[in-house]
Amino acid sequence: MLEFSRIEDLQKNLHMMRNQGNTIGFVPTMGALHPGHISLIKASKTLCDFTVCSIFVNPTQFNDKKDLERYPRTLEKDRFLLEDAQCDVLFVPEVDEMYPNNEKLPDFSFGPIESVMEGAFRPGHFKGVATIVDKLFKAVQPNKAFFGEKDFQQLAIITLMAKRLHPEIEVIPCPTFREKEGLAMSSRNVLLSPEEKITALILSKTLMEAKKNARKIPVASLTQNAISQIKNNQYVELEYFQVVNAESLQEIKEWNDAKKVRACVAARVGKVRLIDNIEL
Ligand code: AMP
Repeated sequence: MLEFSRIEDLQKNLHMMRNQGNTIGFVPTMGALHPGHISLIKASKTLCDFTVCSIFVNPTQFNDKKDLERYPRTLEKDRFLLEDAQCDVLFVPEVDEMYPNNEKLPDFSFGPIESVMEGAFRPGHFKGVATIVDKLFKAVQPNKAFFGEKDFQQLAIITLMAKRLHPEIEVIPCPTFREKEGLAMSSRNVLLSPEEKITALILSKTLMEAKKNARKIPVASLTQNAISQIKNNQYVELEYFQVVNAESLQEIKEWNDAKKVRACVAARVGKVRLIDNIEL
């Protein structure tokens, strides 16, 4: 696996690969890699000739400084996992490389899909995400870019951003990888104590129960049951549980309000903020 920390060096290599007729697949990450990330690398390897993974803990998408400081960083292990998955290129820039001094950042705006759920609880988060993904798309210029459904709202926003600014890049959604017991894999899971990891199962359990009851009981009852179930656990601090139109991400009132429906949840278990979602 080749490794670059400067955009210029990365681009020289990718230019060569492109000239040899290779298609390029791109998997942007913040590192602390787990099998969910590796499933994206595998998807890219299936659909593209050459796979680039980036690891960059993007400061502009953290609205909470402590969260940024606490974010796990495991570069040595990440390299090993990527080698093992036969990733072709690792791009690990420093903050200065992605955010040169005095650069004016674009003011991205995505309308109603940005202001709900994560957008409401993490002000500025998606502006930061769009800013870095736009920069990485410009640096890598992939044919396809792979994103997890685990971050469903992020996937929707990046799909919209790519349509507007990078129509030549195809955004490929990848299913959520879960632990055996149901917990969605996340880099943040390593911050959970063994007890908290068990407590966190309430999120996936509630989502799966919602899936069973979808279209059998009114949306409002399903939502209320889910909220009560999570709030019943004193070790979990619920931020939101919402049943939304999978395209507009706005809450629905009736099952017939949308063709595709998604239940999305965010909660804190101890100090760790977790999100998850499921198709209903
Ligand atoms: P992150 O490093 O958390 O920014 O995630 C990088 C990419 O991996 C994003 O597209 C995430 O949606 C995706 N991802 C994270 N966790 C999972 C998972 N459990 N299953 C599938 N994709 C995931």
